[in-house]
Amino acid sequence: MNIIESPADLIDLSRPCAHTTPRTPRRVHRPPPGCEECLALGSAWVHLRICLQCGHVGCCDDSPNRHATGHWHATAHPIITSGELGETWAYCYADDRLLSAL
Ligand SMILES: [Zn+2]
Ligand SMILES: [Zn+2]
Ligand SMILES: [Zn+2]
Repeated sequence: MNIIESPADLIDLSRPCAHTTPRTPRRVHRPPPGCEECLALGSAWVHLRICLQCGHVGCCDDSPNRHATGHWHATAHPIITSGELGETWAYCYADDRLLSAL
């Protein structure tokens, strides 16, 4: 049986910013296995966020360790999408706004 990816999984970049390029991925694998740094720490997370520049998986700002925001501060990779199934929004830290349709 073939697994057919739904167009509903496409990352919504309908309001792109100066940081989006033709090489910015339009798809990620959801859900990712977990926050890489929390797994290493034995810590827990609430929601997962995926860096669209390098694929780093981090946890959201509702999580105790906020590794997705930490990744932005450490690397200046500005754009993330949600790692949660059914969520296709993208967000730019540098511009502090959603890149998806409102
Ligand atoms: Zn931006
Ligand atoms: Zn984390
Ligand atoms: Zn990154």
